[in-house]
Amino acid sequence: MRPNTNSRLNLKGLWLEDFQKLLADWKEKPFRARQLASWIYGKRVSDFSQMTDASKSFREKLAKDAYVSDLKIVKTETSQDKSIKFLFELEDKETIESVFIFDKNRNTICISSQVGCPLACAFCATGYMGYKRNLTAGEIVDQIIQIKNKIPKNENINNIVFMGMGEPFLNYDNVLKALKIMTSDFGLGLSPKRITVSTAGVTDKIYQLARDLPKVKLAISLHSPEEELRKKLMPITKKFPLKPLLEAGKLYAKSSKQRITFEYVLIKGVNDTEEIALKLAKLIQGIPCKINLILYNPIADADFDRPSMERVNRFREILYPRAPAVTLRISKGVDIQAACGQLKTKTYRKSSGYKTNLIALSSVNKP
Ligand code: SF4
Repeated sequence: MRPNTNSRLNLKGLWLEDFQKLLADWKEKPFRARQLASWIYGKRVSDFSQMTDASKSFREKLAKDAYVSDLKIVKTETSQDKSIKFLFELEDKETIESVFIFDKNRNTICISSQVGCPLACAFCATGYMGYKRNLTAGEIVDQIIQIKNKIPKNENINNIVFMGMGEPFLNYDNVLKALKIMTSDFGLGLSPKRITVSTAGVTDKIYQLARDLPKVKLAISLHSPEEELRKKLMPITKKFPLKPLLEAGKLYAKSSKQRITFEYVLIKGVNDTEEIALKLAKLIQGIPCKINLILYNPIADADFDRPSMERVNRFREILYPRAPAVTLRISKGVDIQAACGQLKTKTYRKSSGYKTNLIALSSVNKP
């Protein structure tokens, strides 16, 4: 049974300073802040009666005035490659998707930061949903908690990537709080080096993250070395042009003392030519980075295709060793529309009226 949330405070998403303030208001001891954090995030407990080291009177107070929300799993789909896509319902009935990406050596959870996305990248299903709202810090971390609760106990979580629905840097404060919860010993206890925040290019927030939490990994979705083509594929480029974006990426690599990743979705005849590969190699010179090539994953909304493997290999050969490191990501979960760029909650397909900023696809340089 989901709790009657009327007038009670949801504790999932609060962090140490929030708990401390709440406990001060309740005239409770400050040490209980860490206790609460550790029960809710570390031990993944939502039922106050299980918080055995809290006094009976404190547990009764919690049950009366607070609750711990859980995302509701509406649906799961399992891919042939064992990856699992989760459809979660939020308290206001909005829905989001997250993916457990199975790999025998390295499991990853791909999480969402917004309901939909306002950035309307031309190749991305989420972009066609439009934007509904930001997720709270609790809703962000709860994707990990619920997936951990659901998958077999012997499966480890090795990586978390913010590559699901939404642009994390447009929800900066909640994403930062979620990162603190994830990386604290009183929280999920994850190493920051195993968490990647991926941005379409919100340059000012790259600088902010470099100040706030530079140990997490940064990925920048690049997808073209040409400003004009990038504007068509990723309209955000009109506000945040390439040159300052790359300078921010360079600074982040320096602050975090680790390579940044440039994500590059290869789209047939659009951004996969030899000439563009050479331009890309030149553009990223001097930036400690890895280029992660991703084969375009088809979506119903966009009239794009995947390049042939011959063309992909040629692109890769031109890039490496001109670029310091180049990898080719084979997307998992394609058969269940859980791969990169394919997330879109079905409920939105039926509804309409969300504001989007779509470009005319016909204006993209197609063959
Ligand atoms: S690729 Fe990322 S930033 Fe672009 S529309 Fe999709 S979710 Fe938003």
